[in-house]
Amino acid sequence: MLRDKFNRPLRDLRISVTDRCNFRCTYCMPAEVFGEAYQFLPKSHLLTFEEIARLTGLIVQQGAVKLRLTGGEPLVRQELEKLVALLVKIEGVEDVALTTNAYFLPQKVLALKMAGLQRITVSLDSLDEAVFQKMNGKRSSVAKVLAGIEAAVKAGYAPIKINSVVQRGVNDETLVELAGWAKEQGHIIRFIEYMDVGTLNGWRMDDVVPAKEIIERINAVLPLEPADQHYFGEVAERWRYKDGGGEIGVIASVTQPFCGACTRLRLSPEGRLFTCLFGTHGVDLRDPMRDGASDDDLTEIIRGTWQKRADRYSEIRTSLTQPVRNKVQMYHIGG
Ligand code: SAM
Ligand code: SF4
Ligand code: SF4
Repeated sequence: MLRDKFNRPLRDLRISVTDRCNFRCTYCMPAEVFGEAYQFLPKSHLLTFEEIARLTGLIVQQGAVKLRLTGGEPLVRQELEKLVALLVKIEGVEDVALTTNAYFLPQKVLALKMAGLQRITVSLDSLDEAVFQKMNGKRSSVAKVLAGIEAAVKAGYAPIKINSVVQRGVNDETLVELAGWAKEQGHIIRFIEYMDVGTLNGWRMDDVVPAKEIIERINAVLPLEPADQHYFGEVAERWRYKDGGGEIGVIASVTQPFCGACTRLRLSPEGRLFTCLFGTHGVDLRDPMRDGASDDDLTEIIRGTWQKRADRYSEIRTSLTQPVRNKVQMYHIGG
């Protein structure tokens, strides 16, 4: 089996299908940077669905079994269901999931379901309208996200996973309310520590609410107990409600890094492989592919990239004397 420098296998592939998004979340694509004049990737630079499926097939042969479509906002890519239909057919794929801001779910979810999409994660940072709108650059409303979630439930996707990034002084006062709502609705919420991904969000350690504190705050109102990990490489630390009312997760990527169990590879919209969320450059597969490389040639690049992998950014973040200045942006490779 393929292993990296720290003996980690390749299990998951995150496919970013676009660098565009209809939201402007302040922690990801701040509106002052991503204005009208911002140049996103031209269409000719994006991998086609057939190209994505071909590369995915080769990556799956090297061990990846779980796929997740992300972005940018994956649902701004036209006819995403056509890609889903190609991916679910690949031998060896066990799971195809989507992370979305839910805006286009009401009109897209049935087509995705018919194409074979297995799971949906929706991002929602607060139920408080003012807080939520501030966080997404006033591009959506809570009602709009709830409508997307409802459509997904109706299409058969319950329980839905909800991702919520927590920023001190921004939405931390509303996290207990959000947890209570998810519990009531039967959704599985995962609170994510605000990360220093990319270089544009002005991240400061003081803005991070540690997972431990998130759990303490919820536990004070809705008592929790630890739950077991599902599988090696699971990034969320799981907790369940003592009253039997479901579970929640916290992703402590800043305060309790989990690089040792990180089995994820990321494919960017223009066909570059990134072996870490905090990577600075990707390994190009698109140009060799368009220049006629064979499957064997491409497989050699994929294997070599994973075998050379020694990333553990979150574990060494605090010992770095200089900030890494050219990190890839989150909206480019997905979460
Ligand atoms: N647009 C889709 C969405 O928001 O669900 C998919 C792409 S988005 C980049 C994937 C996930 O990354 C979202 O749940 C988002 O909240 C999370 N994310 C973005 N920037 C982050 C940051 N600085 N720290 C932690 N999570 C972040
Ligand atoms: Fe768009 Fe998702 Fe980034 Fe928000 S987190 S700006 S919805 S890509
Ligand atoms: Fe994986 Fe990089 Fe995050 Fe560590 S910092 S968990 S290696 S993506």
